[in-house]
Amino acid sequence: MKKRSLVLVTVDCLRADHVGFQGYSRPVTPNLDALAANSVIFSNAIVAGAPTYFSFPAILASRYPLALGRDVLGIAPHESTLATVLHDAGYATAAFLAGNPYLSRRYGYDQGFDRFQDFLSSDGSGPLPLGTTRGRFSKLNQLIQSATHRNGLLAGAYEELYFWYCQWRTAQQDLPMDTLRRYPAANVLVDEAKSWLNSLGEQPFFLWLHLMDPHHPYFPPEESFAELGAPRITARRARFLNSFWNRGDIGPERLRRYKSEILSLYDAGVHWVDKQLSRLVETLQNSQRWDETVFVVTADHGEAFLEHDDRYHSPTSLPEHLIHVPLLLHARELSGKRLSLQRPFSLIHLAPTLLDAVGVSAPDSFHGRSGWGEMSAGELSWEPAITECVDGCNNPAQADDRLRPRLMAVRDEELKLVVNFRESRDYLYDLRNDPGERMPLSPGQRTRERANLLQIARRHLLRTSENQNTDLRLRARLRELQQSGRMAGREASLS
Ligand SMILES: [Zn+2]
Repeated sequence: MKKRSLVLVTVDCLRADHVGFQGYSRPVTPNLDALAANSVIFSNAIVAGAPTYFSFPAILASRYPLALGRDVLGIAPHESTLATVLHDAGYATAAFLAGNPYLSRRYGYDQGFDRFQDFLSSDGSGPLPLGTTRGRFSKLNQLIQSATHRNGLLAGAYEELYFWYCQWRTAQQDLPMDTLRRYPAANVLVDEAKSWLNSLGEQPFFLWLHLMDPHHPYFPPEESFAELGAPRITARRARFLNSFWNRGDIGPERLRRYKSEILSLYDAGVHWVDKQLSRLVETLQNSQRWDETVFVVTADHGEAFLEHDDRYHSPTSLPEHLIHVPLLLHARELSGKRLSLQRPFSLIHLAPTLLDAVGVSAPDSFHGRSGWGEMSAGELSWEPAITECVDGCNNPAQADDRLRPRLMAVRDEELKLVVNFRESRDYLYDLRNDPGERMPLSPGQRTRERANLLQIARRHLLRTSENQNTDLRLRARLRELQQSGRMAGREASLS
């Protein structure tokens, strides 16, 4: 029998509640919504880690992100992933990733791919940051800043003046949206994927696309606004909005004034992804590959828009808008019977489920288990989903940042327990009555359920620390030492 192919699309920062097939009222995803009518939709798909660097070990290697130790980042050398397993099974494999520096060769994400294109600079450090408020700091500015920062009032006034000065300076240049974008847009990646698909013969393939369109800074293609029915936002306005939204010196009340425009920029990015994915589906259909392909769309984490006065996707807490993502799976035998699975489904189970779907066995190292058989029967057995990360780790390239205390969530259908190791506290939320997670239940409420979820958290910690794969851990540590040695060598040769 001919083996089946697999397409995995991961969209950075895509929240579950911002796609039509999960109930969003804006027409952002018409093509995926149409596909969803014939697909399995996991209404409660939960990532196993957030953000990107804590999410992908689970998506690709079905491994909890901290299971090799908090000081290990990325995929370990020789670790089994979807790509390595399918490559060994004779698949043609390719990854086209839109310039996320954490999904690079440096962190082992190229393993198993015949073709790996990450759109990063040659040293893997990522696309250049956008010049906003900080790029033009002269010596004089730095002096004024440090002088004013000795006094709270003066510091506020200085930041305010400097922000508007930068806006005035940049408003003189009228740059089109396409030149402001930091990451390649979805059409660039879909074009690459299409030409790779056209180069293939009859062999089965695994294609992984990682799209960054909804990631900040938000600079979507301008034509997206009209299709979305949203007022057009000019490039100049988008630049102002992104700079303002990025300010660290003002409170949420002032930021909130611009929230609806920021949401329009974000939604327009999601819409662009939807439009480009329909081109990819069309290519697969036109080349008679669609029926033999399992096609999956999901995300590595969500995005915050001031729900808890937060922005972007920093792992300082694990609210639903960060850990709940869309998950759509299309496969021939499930066509025509739209299944919507309400129970929590951890993305730790995604890789074994996908291998099962294409008929390839999963390696023993995978932590998750396949839900394919149960899904085909229309029902998934249920277990709470665990999400873990390092509290406040915003720069994982720094070892110190990775060694902060752990943060963990155990997500049940109705209840969610967040364990904060820094505070040595746990918070229990009733998601049905408090979906915004504003009011943790008092310690005296739902004690039996709390004890049960705590027990699951404890078992998870024990299991992952006892079964730590020391071989993989050592290889990953060694890789990091070699890399930091190389970096030090480069710096020495530059000085
Ligand atoms: Zn991400």
